[in-house]
Parts: sequence; structure tokens; C-alpha cells
Amino acid sequence: MKVLVDGEIVARSAVKVDMEDRGYQFGDGVYEVINVYDGVPFTLDEHIERLYRSAQEIGISINFESDHLKNDIRKLIQENDMKKGGLYLQVTRGVAPRTHQYLKDISSKLVAYPLPYKEMSESRSTGVTAITEQDLRWLRCDIKSLNLLYNIMIKQKAYEQGCFEAILIRDGVVTEGTSSNVFIIKNGTIYTHPATNLILNGITRQKLLEVYHENGWTFKEHPFTTQELLEADEVFVTSTTSEVVPVISIDGKDVNDGRPGSLTRKIQQAFSLTVKNETSSAVG
Ligand code: PMP
Repeated sequence: MKVLVDGEIVARSAVKVDMEDRGYQFGDGVYEVINVYDGVPFTLDEHIERLYRSAQEIGISINFESDHLKNDIRKLIQENDMKKGGLYLQVTRGVAPRTHQYLKDISSKLVAYPLPYKEMSESRSTGVTAITEQDLRWLRCDIKSLNLLYNIMIKQKAYEQGCFEAILIRDGVVTEGTSSNVFIIKNGTIYTHPATNLILNGITRQKLLEVYHENGWTFKEHPFTTQELLEADEVFVTSTTSEVVPVISIDGKDVNDGRPGSLTRKIQQAFSLTVKNETSSAVG
């Protein structure tokens, strides 16, 4: 595997991480996962823009211009002969003697590489199960930070119960999944939590809002309660690598009749079409 390290593409075996990298010690950094279709990175501009925003919010300055970084990513895809799957990209604040506070002149560290391919088509087709859990994360969930401790704890809990995702609830309101955004459909209207500090504004989420608009589907960025989740006609979760995944059971109870809903199916198809259009017209 070839890895992008601070502007250079090298073999994985050549990558060295310093024990005082602040990403390693504190989770002091930010990341992105970008999906590649047919060798083309989907919504690359949006992901890179979010990466720079996350970095800026925690005072990390990335050493590369965004156009330079985008070119490096395209090169990385080529060098790995990558056709489809996720590409992981992270930036840490850099290496410094371990203290909480930091000097502003340390140089950030960037690493990117292809993730192992995860086949999701069966989950997309049959739907998945989920649990609900309290959202006990910090109040800056809009930053795509490396600090994923609570997300990991709760995802593991879902996994150990044979579920795909845990849906997080804060003050009675559904925020998002541990690694996804959550949508419900009730009486033909699609709802999702507004893009505030309480959720990560998913790129898939943002793309879908465009897709709903194009198709004339009614949607509202409006908070909904646990009860509204459990009484929804349809529920689905979205993320870069999983795309649009129907949720057919929550906390052991069927969503509606326990099968993926018809509007969810249409949304999946419309999203796939958008991916196809945008990745076939883009220059790889
Ligand atoms: N929320 C959280 C907490 C996530 O980790 C993710 C996946 N990175 C998402 C939402 C979905 O974001 P995206 O569509 O950009 O992958």
C-alpha cells in the first residue's frame, strides 16, 4: 500500500509516527473519509473544505493549499490503483514535548491512505438494526475530530448486540448515529437534525438535501424526539462509505413493518444516480 505523508507518497513500511505526535497522545487532530468510485473521489471539494474548517476550528494550520492536497489525493488513488472504497485522511497538530498547551509554530502532520474495502450492498438492500443510546459527547460534534472515544464505546455496544449502529439521543432529541446521520420519514416528509454544533454535518447528508430538492421531496432540517423516531414510517442512516442504509429495527422493535420503506428505496436510487453523474463527469 502507498501512503501520502506530508506531500510525499511512500510505502506503508516507510511511515514513521513519533511517540510525541499530538494525534497519537491526545487525539489532537482532524480527519476525513472520502469515497472513491471508479477511481474518482466523490465530493472531494466538500470533504477538503470540511477538513480545513475542522482544522481551523481547533487552531491547526494545514501545511498545504487545498488544490495541492486535492492533487496529492488524486495521485494517491492512482498510485494505489484504487477503483472503489474509502480513503482516510488525517491531520494532527504535530510533534512536540507532551504538555496540554502547545506552541503555535509546530508543524502539522498529514497522512492519507486507502481503507480496506467494506462491502455494504447487502445492508443497503435488506436494511440494518440499531439501538438507541444517550448522547454524552462534547458540544462541538460539528468538528470532525480524531477524538472518537464515546462514539467508539457506543458503536462497540451496538456491534456486540449484533446491531449496525447506535442512534444517539440528547435531551430527548435524536442527534445522529455514532458514525452516521439519521433521517426519519413521517407522512411523506423527511426529517433530520439541523446542522448545529450537536451533529457532524455529513457530506452525504448535504448531498441528500440537494437530491431531495431536485426530486421535489419534502424535507425539514428539524429536531425530532425518540418517540418520533420509534413511530416513524421509515428510518435510514447515511455516511460516506455506507451511503443510504435503511434501519428496519430499533431497540428490538420493528420500524413500521420491519422492511426498508419505499421512499428510502427511491432516495437510495437517486443518490446512486448523483454519484454516477458526478463521478463520470469528473476528471479522475
Ligand atoms: N456523523 C458522524 C458522527 C460521523 O462520524 C459520520 C461519518 N464520518 C457522519 C455523521 C456522516 O458523515 P459523512 O456523510 O460526511 O461521511
